[in-house]
Amino acid sequence: MKKEFANIIVDISHEKVDRPFGYRIPEALLTQVRPGVRVNIPFGAGNTLRTGYVVEVTDRTDFPAERLKEIASVIPGASEPSQRLIMLAAWMKEQYGSTMIQALKTVLPARQKVGTKEQKKVELAALPKEAQELLERAEKKHQTAKARLLKALLGEPVLAWERVTKELKITTQTLKGLEADGVIRLTSSVMYRNPVTEHGFYEKKTLSRAQQEIADSILDSFDRGDMRTGLIHGITGSGKTEVYLELIAGMIQRGKQAIVLIPEIALTYQTVQRFTGRFGSRVSVMNSTLSAGEKQDQCRRAQKGEIDVMIGPRSALFVPFPNLGMILIDEEHETSYKSETSPKYHARETAEELARLSGAMVVLGSATPSLEAYSRAESGQYRLFTLKERLTGGMLPEVEIADLREELRQGNRSIFSRSLQEKLRQRLERKEQSMLFLNRRGYAGFVSCRSCGYVCKCPHCDVSLSEHRGGRLVCHYCGYEQQTVSVCPSCGSKYILGFKAGTEQIEEQIKKLFPGARVLRMDADTTRTKESYEKILSSFAKGEADILVGTQMIVKGHDFPAVTLVGVLAADLSLSLSDYRAGERTFQLLTQAAGRAGRGERPGQVVIQTYQPEHYSIRYAAAQDYEGFYREEIMYRELLSYPPASHILAVQFFAKREEEAKAGAEEAAQYARQFAKREAGERGGQESTGIHWSQDKRCSVVPDTVVIGPAPALIGRINDVYRYGVYVKNKSYEKLVEIKDGIEAMRTSKERMQGLCQFDFDPIHNF
Ligand code: ADP
Ligand code: ZN
Ligand code: ZN
Repeated sequence: MKKEFANIIVDISHEKVDRPFGYRIPEALLTQVRPGVRVNIPFGAGNTLRTGYVVEVTDRTDFPAERLKEIASVIPGASEPSQRLIMLAAWMKEQYGSTMIQALKTVLPARQKVGTKEQKKVELAALPKEAQELLERAEKKHQTAKARLLKALLGEPVLAWERVTKELKITTQTLKGLEADGVIRLTSSVMYRNPVTEHGFYEKKTLSRAQQEIADSILDSFDRGDMRTGLIHGITGSGKTEVYLELIAGMIQRGKQAIVLIPEIALTYQTVQRFTGRFGSRVSVMNSTLSAGEKQDQCRRAQKGEIDVMIGPRSALFVPFPNLGMILIDEEHETSYKSETSPKYHARETAEELARLSGAMVVLGSATPSLEAYSRAESGQYRLFTLKERLTGGMLPEVEIADLREELRQGNRSIFSRSLQEKLRQRLERKEQSMLFLNRRGYAGFVSCRSCGYVCKCPHCDVSLSEHRGGRLVCHYCGYEQQTVSVCPSCGSKYILGFKAGTEQIEEQIKKLFPGARVLRMDADTTRTKESYEKILSSFAKGEADILVGTQMIVKGHDFPAVTLVGVLAADLSLSLSDYRAGERTFQLLTQAAGRAGRGERPGQVVIQTYQPEHYSIRYAAAQDYEGFYREEIMYRELLSYPPASHILAVQFFAKREEEAKAGAEEAAQYARQFAKREAGERGGQESTGIHWSQDKRCSVVPDTVVIGPAPALIGRINDVYRYGVYVKNKSYEKLVEIKDGIEAMRTSKERMQGLCQFDFDPIHNF
């Protein structure tokens, strides 16, 4: 069908996207009208011409088509940042599968509610001495209004607008005149609502040779117009942040702005201080604690050119900078860069698209790059830079693996291996600090053997099975099911069960073992607010406790120079995630945890406790060998067609009744299977084997569609809503987009009629 209708908003705001106006696109403009394009439209009863923004082009309209007005003309160019954001939203809708409204609401700022305090103020801009002279002159010339104002400002350099206009009765004209002469400044508090209130102290470092070379090389390629994404692979403490600062300075010199993405959890006062310390009030911060109004203010300040640098979590991408030059993504492997609500976008990919639209460049940094990023660096799509040394002189810690199976054999049933107990005792004696890390992320009901480390896995997908009520073990990819086991299939031991230990139990155990030890605990329970989180960290940093026990939140980006011991209590927890990325997550967590030890002058030690000491993720993490890990992991991804070797589209169905969720998923799976069949047919009718011999007899994997599922979701039921998933794999993401669109078209018409089963898309392609 011809896409001859356009949905148009007149103001760019969150609220307006709910009710766009429909217009018909005249034949002559069909090729030009796209999301983000500015158009002139006849508006309202009088049909006055107004400027609107196209947000969507479609083939259907809820309005009688003959009553629609026509777009008058297209305004060329895409000079406004909000136009680029609308284009980005259209891309996100297409890539990630959401409605255009959801996508627009993600990228456009929410409009501040009316009635909030936009406090206007009058400030003295001239020096007091000058103001005094002006006052005397005004009095001589009998400019009484001007004199009244200057007198008041000399008493109090900032006055409320109401006081000036109502009490002092100064006209707007007089004020504007004085502003033009630079005597006063008219401000509104909206402009000054800046979450950054203090600027840290920053001593500029002389970059090391390696740091300088990276910064120069990136800026040089920027100037040459080689906008390939850069990936800086450097261990924690190797000086990546200093390189970011240098790059930002380079952008500012070129009249450009920069966005710095930092995982929310690492967005602490300490981190922000380094940026504000260097760039002062040209820096602003966006985080989840800001109100919608405050966020909007940040966007306005950005648009007006009042700031050059925006720091924040993934949503900071959508700050409308007029001249965006660079997007830096620190800790690019972090899972928090992926949105959990529709559109389920990934900040890395979205940043690349935004950069493409803006003529900007993306720079990624990590100590443990994602497989996606590193494989792109390998193929030359990204430029790879490496930092190998810690600049503060700290040595890499010595890592030891404690085999928990052996501990059990020796009769030790405590959560702590003998080696870890011994080392904790030493630290307490020497008054050094320790961190104990319980990797809770993986706790999802997996079943493993305490004697031999065997984990119950799906025979088809190589991910852990999860224990469901009723004694079933279920695979969340393909739906494979089996009875739970009471005897280990591998060694016959009866110690095969779900792993259950929380941070609280660990705290108790430490208190029993070491009655005098001062323990701090950090987990979801003790850190409900951002303040409590920072409080625990600063208390530990000040040496108010000997041992910090916590979940993965303790391993992120904090420097505790007095910590000389890090214990990982059960590395297996994340290994047994029922997710193909379990190995990668484990390697990342262990590497990060190990990086916490020995940041100061004294060398550090790390003890990794595990039931699977031979697992490659654990071995490579202990050896701090990223390359080695990458080689092994990428092989496995290729073998099983997991990303980045292939893309996966997850389609999830939700319904109050289990049958409906399941039926929805089955229908989608069927659709995808038919698509796969058609695809195979087009290649000559053979059933696809996944392997293809080309004419030069080289074997390659063809872009086949593989459909897995349906299967109940990891957490099959939340709030009485049942969830089912279907996974579709393909080497070509475009094919997955076609399948997504097909499922969407099929579902939307039905859903309108029934309204029973909801669904969403979750592309985990992360190319
Ligand atoms: P990363 O971001 O890779 O973890 P940072 O940039 O935070 O590393 O640097 C780690 C530590 O080294 C910081 O304390 C920083 O001040 C210091 N540092 C970084 N670069 C230099 C340098 N060129 N000279 C001296 N100290 C540096
Ligand atoms: Zn399976
Ligand atoms: Zn066993």
